[in-house]
Amino acid sequence: MHLSGLKLRLFRNLGVQELSFPEEGIAIVGANAQGKSNLLEAIYYLEIFKSFRGSKLQNLVAFGEDVFRIEGTVESRNNGKLATQITAAYETSTRRRRITIDGSEPTRVIDAIGHLAAVVFSPADVGIVDAGPSARRRYLDVLLSLNREGYLESLQIYKHVLAQRNAALRSNADMIAVRAWDDSLALSASKIMTARAEWVAERSEDFHKYYELISGKISASMSYVSKISIEDWNPEQVYAKCLSALEDSWSRDIFRRNTSQGPHLDELLLAFDGGQALGEIREIGSGGQRRTAALALRLIEGDTIQDSRGVQPILLLDDAFVELDDSRRERVLLLMDQDRFGQVIMTAPKESDVQIHGNKLCKWGIKEGIVYA
Ligand code: ATP
Ligand code: MG
Repeated sequence: MHLSGLKLRLFRNLGVQELSFPEEGIAIVGANAQGKSNLLEAIYYLEIFKSFRGSKLQNLVAFGEDVFRIEGTVESRNNGKLATQITAAYETSTRRRRITIDGSEPTRVIDAIGHLAAVVFSPADVGIVDAGPSARRRYLDVLLSLNREGYLESLQIYKHVLAQRNAALRSNADMIAVRAWDDSLALSASKIMTARAEWVAERSEDFHKYYELISGKISASMSYVSKISIEDWNPEQVYAKCLSALEDSWSRDIFRRNTSQGPHLDELLLAFDGGQALGEIREIGSGGQRRTAALALRLIEGDTIQDSRGVQPILLLDDAFVELDDSRRERVLLLMDQDRFGQVIMTAPKESDVQIHGNKLCKWGIKEGIVYA
C-alpha cells in the first residue's frame, strides 16, 4: 500500500500544504522540532483517528486555531480498486471529529479505521516494553482492533460494562446490582482474552525469531498471562472461567470497590529466554535490548497486517534507530527491506540515518513544519 497524496491544514505545526509521495517512499531529514514526528502522526491519524503519541485531539490543532484537517489518498494494488480517499477533521470548539471515506461519512468511527494500513516505528516505542502492563495491553488492543473482526466492539462493551460494575461497587450497591453485570462482563472478557491469547500464540515464534535476528545472540519470548488461570482456550471454557473468577472475587471486589480480575489486568509478558528465571526484559534488559524487543513487536505487527488485511503496510519510520549499535541497526534494516512493507516514509535528524532500501529513497527536508523537496 502507499500514500500518494496528503493535504494538511493546521495539524500541529504543519501549516497548510499539499504533498505527493513517490510510491517507494521518501526520507525526510530535518533538525529537531521541525515537525518530523508531527508529519508521521498526521499520516497515522488517517488509520486510527487518534494520535499515535497518545495526545488529546485538541492538542493536534495548530496553536490558536480551531480546526485541523487531513486528507490522504491511499493506493493499493491488490484491493481491486485504485485509490481510497480518507479525510479527517477535528473542531475544538464543538469537539467534533469528522471523517469521510471516499466522500461518505461512516456512521461509526469503527467503520472508518484501518483503511490506511501502516506501522509506526518511533523512539517512544520502547515505552511498550518499559512501562507497566497497561502499555502492552494498549499495544495488543490497538493491533487487534485493527486486525481482528469484532475485537474493538468487544473491547468497547467490556470497558463500558466494567465501568458500570465498578460504579456499582463504589456506590455500595448490593450484591445483586453488582452481579447483574457479571454475565456480559464475562462474555466480552472471554472474547478479548481469547483473541489476545490466540494472536500471541500465533506470533510468539516470530517475535522470538526477530529478536534473535536483531540481537544476533540471546533471544526473548512473549507470552500472554492472565490472573484467571485458563488451560483450554476454547471460547466457551474461557467464558466459564471468567464467570467463575468474577463469582470467586465478589467479596474481595466489594471490599476493594473495584473489579479485581479480568483482561483489564492481564499482561503481555516479554522475557529473556530461559523463562522466568532470566527475567522480564523491562526489568533486566539494557536500553538496546528493550529497543530490540520493541522493534520485534512492530515487525510482528506488520506481519499481522499483511496476513489479516492482505496489504503490505506503509512503514512510518520515526528516527527509530536511536540507541542501536551499528550491527543491530543493519540487521533491522535488512528485516525491514524484505518485502515486508510497502512504501517507506522515514524521518531522521541526520542524513546518515536514512540508509534504507540501499539509500535509494528520495530525500526531502522539513523546516518549521514545511516539507520541501
Ligand atoms: P525531534 O527531532 O526532536 O523528534 P520533530 O521534528 O519530530 O523533532 P515534532 O515532534 O514533529 O518535532 O514537533 C515539531 C514542533 O511542533 C515542536 O516545536 C512542537 O512544539 C510543535 N507543536 C506541537 N504541537 C503543536 C500544535 N498543536 N501547534 C503548533 N505547533 C505544535
Ligand atoms: Mg520527532
